[in-house]
Amino acid sequence: MTQKKSPKAVFQANAEACDQCGKCPSSCPVTIHVEGFNPRQIIAKVALGREADLMKSQVIWTCTSCLKCKERCPEEISPYDVIQALRRIAIYLELPHPEGYDASVKAVVETGVVQQPQLVRTRSKERKDRKSMGLPPAEKPRDMAAYTETLREILGEETV
Ligand code: SF4
Ligand code: SF4
Repeated sequence: MTQKKSPKAVFQANAEACDQCGKCPSSCPVTIHVEGFNPRQIIAKVALGREADLMKSQVIWTCTSCLKCKERCPEEISPYDVIQALRRIAIYLELPHPEGYDASVKAVVETGVVQQPQLVRTRSKERKDRKSMGLPPAEKPRDMAAYTETLREILGEETV
């Protein structure tokens, strides 16, 4: 099995290669709307060894995981991966993070999905569930034991 890169290795690989061209903030949907969020600046702070400041701020929790920065970077760098690595360390260090994050992770571990299917609202303002729309019930992972074991393996591979 391929060993996952540690968060520190992710920082190093990305920060060293960034030439601060600015393409990532120009394509980031969050930068347009949220003052203070800028993937280029996040990479620059990591290059300066200021990861701790980023992890203590709420800025790393604002990324929507759209991956546009990764797709557009001419140096094949991924601000997205850096942000995920910062989040992993922040959780590991038990730093403050948004309410609901732990519940989402717990739901994935226990049921395989972030949240259970919700009722949808039709144009005629009716609330419909999967059954009334002719859909089968949402499935859990078929082999829960294998699923949980795989998650444990993934988590066990990571080192801070
Ligand atoms: S697009 Fe890539 S090279 Fe340009 S600033 Fe962003 S991370 Fe750095
Ligand atoms: S993955 Fe995050 S940082 Fe990258 S473009 Fe999308 S919202 Fe911005």
